[in-house]
Order: sequence, then C-alpha cells, then structure tokens
Amino acid sequence: VRLANVGGRLQLVIDGGIVDVERASHGAFDSDPQKGFDRFDEFQQWANGIECATETFVPELAGPPSATPKQIFAVGLNYREHADETGFDKPDLPVVFTKYVTSFEGPVTRVALPAGSVDWEVELVAVIGRTARAVPTSCGWDYVAGLTAGQDLSERELQRSGPAPQFGLAKSFPGFSAMGPVLVTPDEFEYRDNIALGCEVNGVVVQNARTNEMIYSVPALVSYLSGIVTLCPGDIIYTGTPPGVGMGRNPPWYLQNGDELRSWVEGIGELRQRFYA
Ligand code: ZN
Repeated sequence: VRLANVGGRLQLVIDGGIVDVERASHGAFDSDPQKGFDRFDEFQQWANGIECATETFVPELAGPPSATPKQIFAVGLNYREHADETGFDKPDLPVVFTKYVTSFEGPVTRVALPAGSVDWEVELVAVIGRTARAVPTSCGWDYVAGLTAGQDLSERELQRSGPAPQFGLAKSFPGFSAMGPVLVTPDEFEYRDNIALGCEVNGVVVQNARTNEMIYSVPALVSYLSGIVTLCPGDIIYTGTPPGVGMGRNPPWYLQNGDELRSWVEGIGELRQRFYA
C-alpha cells in the first residue's frame, strides 16, 4: 500500500493516481492522514482491496505523510563512513535527537537559507503504525506503518556551537524536514532492509548508499527507542544519513542561493528542494 497526504486529506496512491480514502470508504476512514495511523492494520486491509485511482497524483501538492506526529526521533551517525567523515567515533548506542514539527514540509518545496552553513542529509524515514513498548528487534518491522524519503537539512554552525551540540534547533529551520512523496508499507519492498538512497546538488550526485549499511537497522531502532519511550502511531524516525554530506568534504560544500537538491529513496520516489537566500 502506498499513501499520501494531499491537501491535508489521506489518499491512496495507485499507479501514479490517487483515491480519496474518506470518500472511497464512504466515511469508514477519516480524511485526516494522522487518524489513518491509529487504525493502520484495518486501513491497510481495506486499502488492499482498492484497485483504481480516480485522480492524478501531483507530488507538488503533497504534504508530509505524517504531518503532526506525537513524537519525532532522528538518529545521528548511523552509517560508519558518515561517522568517520564528521570526525565522531562510531556510536556504541544510537545517537538520538529530535526535529521540531514546524520544520515539516512536503516533497517539493522552496527553502529559505538561514545565515550559516546549510548542509544536506538524505534519509530513510520510518513511520510507526501501532503502539510500541519494549519491542524486540525481531518484531520491529511489525510496528512500522511505512517508509518515506526525508531530508534532514542541517545548519552546521548552530549545530556545532556551544559546549554541547545543538542538533534539534539546527535541523528545524522552516522547511528543513522535507518528506514524501508517498508512504510505502514495508511489504511493498523486496528487500526492506536494503534500499538504495541518495541525493544530488545541481545534478551532481553527492550521496549514494544503501540502507543495509546502517549501523542500527529500522527494527533495531524501533526496539531501542521502544525500550525507553512508548512509540505512538504516526511517530517518525529519521534513520540517519549516509556519507557524502557537505561538511565532510575538503573544502566543505554548503547549499547556496539558487541551488537545487534532488533526493531519492528506491521504491518511494524523490524530493526536490530549491534554495533561496
Ligand atoms: Zn540526519
């Protein structure tokens, strides 16, 4: 099942077209995309029976698949070579921070560059589909509603200022959390633990990796997080970025006025951000 948030309404995506869930289900399911996650098993079962789209899907009109989650988790240093390029040691526990919801955007946007040094981080994003508490890694995928593509844009000067890193704020300027274009249920992937992802700046590929290079896999992250906090339907996990960010380059390379960033995750689709000063 593939779903999208278009104009704040939950849509099923079928062969490039969409079906409005509330209308097609005659009100059995709410139009609010967030409420879909509260009854996700039931929703997925119903969605599997729908075969034809009624309208064209326009990614430019889509919002983030989970736009108002209760909780947002983001994982740092989750690919060995990315930990190396940032100069940090490989973590012996997941490095977890949050991003703030006002930074959320859909897949195709224009982003104002704040003062400082803005960097790209393409990431696989997992959205939780049922309440999870102390879940073992072997069952982690059962708690994932679906996967989407994400950018964890980061202003590196604020991030590195002060005596302790400022991850949450430095990664939450308006438009710094693009997601979409669709949410894809894990069963749609042939190899859900080995998905290609990458991004390019003005047509130059800067990140190109596979999620099997992650230090902590999606189910391992669900297990680790749910051992501490209760995960709720709709919660978001940014699973970390692969190597190739601008701060790891010599000289460093940051986003400039007029740049276009295109990011992709295999089996999901692409994000496009245009930056202006
Ligand atoms: Zn990140």
